[in-house]
This record gives sequence, structure tokens and C-alpha cells, in this order.
Amino acid sequence: MIKYKLICKKCDISFDSWFASSKEYEKLKKKSLLNCHGCGSKKIEKTLMAPKLISGINRIPKSQNLKLRSIDKKIKEYQKFIKKNFEYVGKNFTYEARSIHYNNKKKNKGIFGTASIEQIKELREEGIETELIPWVEDKNN
Ligand SMILES: [Zn+2]
Repeated sequence: MIKYKLICKKCDISFDSWFASSKEYEKLKKKSLLNCHGCGSKKIEKTLMAPKLISGINRIPKSQNLKLRSIDKKIKEYQKFIKKNFEYVGKNFTYEARSIHYNNKKKNKGIFGTASIEQIKELREEGIETELIPWVEDKNN
């Protein structure tokens, strides 16, 4: 497994992604199977920093390494919590968030889903509280 830091050329966010190998990354990229976690754009590039970052991980002190792992674990725990307590609305997130806000639509659960940085900014300007959370794709579910 290899971890690349990918960056979206459209909305400028970067995120980490795991690949079986660098060849797999190239293959997925060629087939346009990579897209941005934020806006769904296919204009994804590997950041230049990535290879250094990967080879650097084994060389950083063990305590740091543990820290990284525990952050990863925390994110996963957080995701578990969100999945359990919030309703997944996927790309309808902004629509659902607005309908809750403006129509007083009652929901038993909060919602989570995907939105672009721009959409989040708009929601915030409209006074709709939205949190950005780090998300690690889990292939097991
Ligand atoms: Zn994007």
C-alpha cells in the first residue's frame, strides 16, 4: 500500500488516498476514476511532496509515528460516531442542510455528506452551521 497526498485543481483541497501501488494510481488516473473528496472534480494531481512524505514516515521518531497513528484512529472513531448518529445524504448535503434550516424540516438525526469548500462557505454565510471533518475512506464498509 502506498499513500499519496492528492490535490484538487478545482477547489484546491488536498486529501490523502491509499493505493495498492504507484501503478494502480496511474491506472485509476488514466481511467478518470479519481475524484475530489470535496467537489467531485476529476482534476486531481499528486502533490510533489507526497513521495518524500511517504519515505519520511518510517524515519520519523517512533513517538511521532504513534501520534500519527492515534490521530488516524481518532478520525476513524469519529467517523464511526458520525455514521451511527448522523444520516448520510451524500452529495445532497447542501440541499438537505438548507431544507432543514429554512423549512424547519424536522430530522431525528443530524446529517452528513459531501460538499465543496465553496458550498460550505455559502452555507456558513447563510448562518447554517457546518463543520468540516477529516474523512478517511474505509474500504471495509
Ligand atoms: Zn475539489
